[in-house]
Amino acid sequence: MAAPLHSASPFAAKTPCDSLWFGADFVTLRDGRYNIIENGALAVKDGKILWIGPLSECPDFSAPQRTDFGGGIVTPGFIDCHTHLVFGGDRSAEFEQRLNGVSYAEIAAQGGGILSTVNATRDASHSQLLEQAEFRLRPLLAEGVTCIEIKSGYGLSVESELKMLQAIRELGATQAVEVKSTCLAAHAVPPEFKGRADDYIDLICDTLLPQVAQENLADAVDAFCEHLAFSPAQVERVFNAAASLGLPVKLHAEQLSSLHGSTLAAKHHALSADHLEYATESDAEAMAESGTVAVLLPGAYYLLRETQCPPVELFRRHGVPMALASDANPGTSPALSLRLMLNMACTLFRMTPEEALAGITCHGAKALGLQETHGTLESGKVADFVHWPLARPAELVYWLGGQLPCTVVYRGEIRL
Ligand SMILES: [Zn+2]
Repeated sequence: MAAPLHSASPFAAKTPCDSLWFGADFVTLRDGRYNIIENGALAVKDGKILWIGPLSECPDFSAPQRTDFGGGIVTPGFIDCHTHLVFGGDRSAEFEQRLNGVSYAEIAAQGGGILSTVNATRDASHSQLLEQAEFRLRPLLAEGVTCIEIKSGYGLSVESELKMLQAIRELGATQAVEVKSTCLAAHAVPPEFKGRADDYIDLICDTLLPQVAQENLADAVDAFCEHLAFSPAQVERVFNAAASLGLPVKLHAEQLSSLHGSTLAAKHHALSADHLEYATESDAEAMAESGTVAVLLPGAYYLLRETQCPPVELFRRHGVPMALASDANPGTSPALSLRLMLNMACTLFRMTPEEALAGITCHGAKALGLQETHGTLESGKVADFVHWPLARPAELVYWLGGQLPCTVVYRGEIRL
């Protein structure tokens, strides 16, 4: 390609860059809309987007590497902003038992449910946790994920929560994907603290979180606000401890009932409130006011055969940004495809394909506090993008699962 130097270009002739990509429509997702640049070009320098625009206006870059996609579309790399990908064991045997008619009570009596994951996670070595997480990470990466959040929350002791967070940090250091780590020690009351949830909250606030902060093991702090987990008052103590350590917060809220956890999250300027099936209009107003992202999780809704949908129309009306995530976890969402979540969010929650795609790019980034560097194709952002041999972005949402061929560029380099 030898495009002429555009007269208004701030770039001198033969401005050096590392690579130039063109010959496709660039679906930028700027401002949470498709904002497509037809027949576009994108220049990369030092792992970041140096320039993006129509090929006809492309400055005369000198690029050692030039890639003509020869058609198709380019999207930002996908962001899975809510997962529990690191855990010991799995619960497929329990899944089968339930479908063979064994009751929840019997399964719980055998030590099933979340307790079995806690025990398996506590028993697992660091390398076993890593190996199992890598197995689950692979299919997500193959379909274009370039950034993923992973939570702790199956250790439920200082030692085991730290072990999980260390495994999450190691994945970030060894895998070709941006990993954000979240401490979710307030996920469930550990068996040792049965009937003493407040004492466990003390342990989290006074001992665990200061150590997590000191060792830089987490980028955010999360909790589960629900009758079967922690009350808003207990969550608020965790939020205050996180704030005193300079850590942003997130919350599992309104999944099974309305406790107005999402309003509490908004009051604490949480990055996101997640699930939200039972969120109300006042919750939506509070979230809009604080800029808290609504993270919707259709995998858990589907697996639990829920019937109450999150209030998408309220979020839309009040301008609450909506993100989507896999919620990959052993109990309620063993989901290893973010693209499948796109279809489920549209089919089950009636989101539009444009909203769904913004949910795993632009708004997924905001749910992780990464909106300045990730989530859209704009100059100055990290060069994470994916080429798809597809006619239009809705195809990414329309096909029900299956792995579509794609070329993933991570920090400006093709990820093999
Ligand atoms: Zn979750």
